Amino acid sequence: MAKPTFFDYPEFRETKIPKIRLAHVKPVTLYTKYRWVVQALIVISFVLVPVMHWLKLDFTNDQYWILGREVSMMLALQAVVVLWLGTYFVNFFENYFVGRLLCGWICPWGLLNRLGMIINHKLRRHKHRSLILVIGNLIFSATATLVVMNWVVDLKTLFMPQHPYFAYVWGAFGLLVLLGFVVLHMLGFKFCEGFCPFGMYLTVVTQKNSLRITFDSGRACVDCGLCTQVCPMDLSPREMDFKDSMNGGFGQCILCGDCIDVCQNRMALEGLPAPLRWNTEQEIIPLLPLENSSR
Ligand code: SF4
Ligand code: SF4
Repeated sequence: MAKPTFFDYPEFRETKIPKIRLAHVKPVTLYTKYRWVVQALIVISFVLVPVMHWLKLDFTNDQYWILGREVSMMLALQAVVVLWLGTYFVNFFENYFVGRLLCGWICPWGLLNRLGMIINHKLRRHKHRSLILVIGNLIFSATATLVVMNWVVDLKTLFMPQHPYFAYVWGAFGLLVLLGFVVLHMLGFKFCEGFCPFGMYLTVVTQKNSLRITFDSGRACVDCGLCTQVCPMDLSPREMDFKDSMNGGFGQCILCGDCIDVCQNRMALEGLPAPLRWNTEQEIIPLLPLENSSR
């Protein structure tokens, strides 16, 4: 028997978002466990590649390396172009077949935003929360700046006043730290929603047939609102499937899986399967066996 229409387009009570957004830290499903691991590995590789000289362009001393061997600037620049193009194509196909994984799984900036969100939430009752958050975001921004600059300059230049690029390197460092701090502190995930060029591109190109969050109207929902409160992208995961891709729909979802995790936790208390689930079955993508979803 066909489902009544109101089951296909359920209406939900508006969820009250707490002033300090919930942060989901402990992964529940295999999907979020792997996401944390992959994101950590990406950050480690961002640090390791220039440190090990696997690819490094030191414009301050006119020295360039590929796979540990010193090469000409032209060759190193060609390697950068090839790397960019390769990353672009991998991302294009990954996005076409799966969805906006780049933002949830790969982007190191998203990880910093997430750490800021976790600090903010963990210290929500701390009287010095705002100050700690400012210091934390400054440290994140300075660390990210050093990691990025290490790809193109010799960081030792910062401690060599006699070096011809000393002032330039300090100037770039100061500017980038300031910019990073403003973006992290003032915008957080709003940057990913409305300012990041990659994010905007992915919002437009993400396909409806990609991996996405769906609300299973055949399952009970206790209307706790946790899925909305935990969503870093300010989405309403229950309604996402029914919305326009660019206005609260799947195009804006970074596939972090946090909403599914909290929904599983909440519904496990009732002994029921979570109504929020992936639109695909576990046979298609092996990372998706959700511990409670088959009940
Ligand atoms: S809808 Fe769910 S998976 Fe998508 S961004 Fe929000 S919490 Fe993450
Ligand atoms: S977390 Fe699950 S049970 Fe709670 S409101 Fe969202 S869909 Fe419903």
